[in-house]
Formats: sequence, structure tokens, C-alpha cells
Amino acid sequence: MKGNKLYWKISATLLSLLVVLGVMYVMLSTYVAKAYFEEVNQRLNGNIAAMMSHEVQPLINGEVDTLAIKKIISSMMTVNPSVEVYVLDTEGEIVTYVAPYKRVKLTSVDLAPVKSFILAEKKPFIKGDDPRHPGEYKVFSAAPIMADDALQGYLYIILASEEQTAVSATLLGSYFLKLGVNTFLLTLIGALAIGLLAIWFLTKNLRTILFTVKRFKEGDYKARVADNEKGDLIELADTFNEMADTIVSNIDQLKSVENLRRELIANVSHDLRTPVSIIQGYVETLLMKKDSLSVDKQADYLKIVLDSTEKLSLQITQLFEYSKLEAKQIEPQKEAFFLSELVQDTYQKYDILATDKEIKMTINLPKKSQLVFADVQLVERVLQNLMDNAIKYTPKGGKINVSIKNTKKGVQVKVKDNGPGIPKQEQSYIFERYRKAKATRSKVNSTGLGLAIVKKILELHNVTIQVQSKVNEGTAFVFQLPVYT
Ligand code: ADP
Repeated sequence: MKGNKLYWKISATLLSLLVVLGVMYVMLSTYVAKAYFEEVNQRLNGNIAAMMSHEVQPLINGEVDTLAIKKIISSMMTVNPSVEVYVLDTEGEIVTYVAPYKRVKLTSVDLAPVKSFILAEKKPFIKGDDPRHPGEYKVFSAAPIMADDALQGYLYIILASEEQTAVSATLLGSYFLKLGVNTFLLTLIGALAIGLLAIWFLTKNLRTILFTVKRFKEGDYKARVADNEKGDLIELADTFNEMADTIVSNIDQLKSVENLRRELIANVSHDLRTPVSIIQGYVETLLMKKDSLSVDKQADYLKIVLDSTEKLSLQITQLFEYSKLEAKQIEPQKEAFFLSELVQDTYQKYDILATDKEIKMTINLPKKSQLVFADVQLVERVLQNLMDNAIKYTPKGGKINVSIKNTKKGVQVKVKDNGPGIPKQEQSYIFERYRKAKATRSKVNSTGLGLAIVKKILELHNVTIQVQSKVNEGTAFVFQLPVYT
């Protein structure tokens, strides 16, 4: 019922509008019919006064001729018993009159309409004073009364007498009562039925939208107005849908920030505890046994503290990176660039590190450089992590090869080493965070986050990474980015 309030309001407005229109129509018709009736009356009977003044002479030297008046009465009664006859002097004063019931209240009549009526060639539609009802105007016939070419006064005949007005009013009333009222009522019912039906259909979409909004309000965040339910309210429905999308994405964003916060707290307490307690332990020992420790021992301890701070710093960086990726806080800023150039740049930096570790690093480049569409910084991070791992896990004297190949699917990057390799059963989970292969678990600077970051970044680019590895033979990581067209 509450939802249909609008429907009832519009319906009530329609009903009131129809009633007002109906009443106005009836009033207008009555007025027009009355005016029409009066005009016809004046046009038909307008020359009565002229005819009469030809026949009789009601005024002789300003005096009333009783005989002439009697003649007027008898001829009037035969022609039209409903008219009222007034004899006016030249100033418009009523000298005498012939009217039933003798309720004449005016003593004079305004001569202006009388004169314009007389002067008009074709009988016009003019109303003059009604001597019985001061302030009311009626159609009349008028003619000058002449004697020896001198104006004696005027014969002023009210055509729509009181009786006639009364009769025509009843006639009009009964006519409208029978025909008008019936027709009007029928039209009103018809229009109302069509109107209500139309409003029902017009507000149907509005009700559907309202229903969807309610569903959304009650927690159904998937509620959207379907295309076929939008009707004429496309803009409203689209606005709601967009608003709902924004709200949902805002909620998601808030959730992801909350996840990031939780994730960070959990990871920080898990990962950072070890290096921090190592640093704490060695620094305490150094402080306590400062004098009893040899210089070499002190240097060893300080080296351990330094390694731990490095590890701590690496872990903090990777933790932030991974947590942000996990909470979907990183939006890749994609652009077109030559992948082989980026690989070469990264290679050059790691080649120095490899040489330091007496590892031979080589690169194979394709003949033609191809453009890819991706986030340069993120892809660089992938390359860094893969090359970093290769150097980290390949023993002294080992070999690392980085190759870029143009394939049908895109530009392929492969980072291959001849290190310890990863057993088949462990290959499936090394991309999960904190998961490490058993054989290399105790390696320094191992956080267990490098490959998890690689996987997340490539996922943002809809790309997967493969590992090809055999124990004691080596490991290769392969991925390819689609060519930018
Ligand atoms: P970590 O910081 O431990 O290197 P990663 O996520 O980068 O973390 O790697 C996960 C695990 O995968 C490593 O701990 C290691 O056991 C294994 N791994 C990664 N790269 C290589 C590689 N090139 N050779 C052998 N093992 C590797």
C-alpha cells in the first residue's frame, strides 16, 4: 500500500482534473448556449421595435398616447407575450412601459447601446439595461419614435423577458441534465478507467525499480534493475544501477583495505619476529661480553646482525608488496613497451651479482623486438624475483640463461639455471606464500614470498607462469606476455 501511494496520488489528481474539466465544460456550454440563444433572439426579433413604431405613435409631443399603447399591448401579446415594452423619452427616461407584474426598478435606460443598435445597419448583438434588474443586461430591440421629423423618444423592447429567461433556463437545465450529465458521466468513467489503467502501467516500472532498491537496501548487493524492467525510466534505473555498482565497489575497497591491514598485522608478527630476536640476541651478547669477546668474534656477530637487518628490510618490502597485491590495492598501469629491452636491462644488473658469485649468466635475444602491453614496473619486479632466485639457489660455478623468444602466443621469457632443481611434488606449491622447497629451506634471504609476488603480478596481467625443473639438473621459469597490436 505504501509503495502504491504515488499511484493513488496520481489517480486522485487525474480524477480532480477530470471533475474540474467537466464542471468547466458544463459551465462554458451553458454560457455559450445562453449567449447563442440571446443572439438568435435578437437577430430574429431585432426589428420588432421598428415595425411597431411605424404602426403606432406612442408619444405625441412628449405625452403618452394611451390608445397607441393599448394597440402596442395587443399586438405584442399576439406576436410575443414574453417581451417587455418600454417607451423612453429622448433622454432615456422611462415614460411608460408594458410589462407583466410591473416590477420595474429603473427610471431611465442607458441610451448608448440603444443608439448604436438603431444606427447599426445589420442588426447587431448588443445588450442593454434591464429596467427590472438594475446591473443586468438583456438583448433588446429599439427604434426611434418620430413625429413631424422630430425625435420624440424611443421604443425599447426587452426581448428575453424574465419569463422567457426562466423557461430557457429550465430547458437548458433539463437538456444538460438528460444529455449532458449522462454523456459527461459516461465520458468521465471512461476517461477515468483509461487514465487509471495508464497510470498503473506507467508506474509499473517505478514499482519494479522501488522493489529493486528495497532489495539492495536490505543487503542484496547484487540487486540491479534489468534492461527489460527499465521502461521509460531508463535514466533513473541506470543511475540506480551505477550508484549500486559504486557502493559495492566502495564496500569491496573498504573490505580489501581491512584485509590488507589484517594481513599485514598477521604477517608482521609471523615473519619479522625471527630476525628481530636474532638482532636483539646478538646485540645483547655484544653489549654484555664486549670485553671478553675477540675482535673476530665481535665482527662475526656484527655480520650476523647486519644480515638480519638486511633480511628484515627485504621482508618488510616484500610483505608490503605481497599484502598490497593480495588486497587488490595495486592497479596495473599498462603501457606498450619492448619486453626484450626490459629483460636486457634487468639482466645487466643481475649479471654483476652473478659474476660476484662466480656464476655464468647468458642471454638470448630474438631478432625482432616485439611490443607488449603491461605494467613495466610490475613486470620488472617479476624478472628481478626470478633472476634473484636463480642466483640465490644456483651454486658457485653454475650457469644461468635468460632467453626471450617470439612465439605464436606472444613474447616468451625463460629464466633457466642448472641449480639444485625442485622435486615434482614440491613444484605445485612453491608459488604459495611462505612455501619453500625442503632442500633449500635454510637459505639466507629466503622469505617464501618472491614467487607468490610473481604469480600475483602475472595474474593481474591474465598470464600464468610455468616451472620446469628436475632435481640436480636445474630449474626454469617460463611466462609469456601477449604482443601489443
Ligand atoms: P624465497 O624467498 O624462499 O626464494 P620464493 O617464493 O621466491 O621464496 O621461492 C619459493 C621456493 O621455491 C624457494 O624457497 C625455493 O625452495 C624454491 N625455488 C625458487 N626458485 C628456485 C630456483 N631457481 N631453484 C631452486 N629452487 C627454487
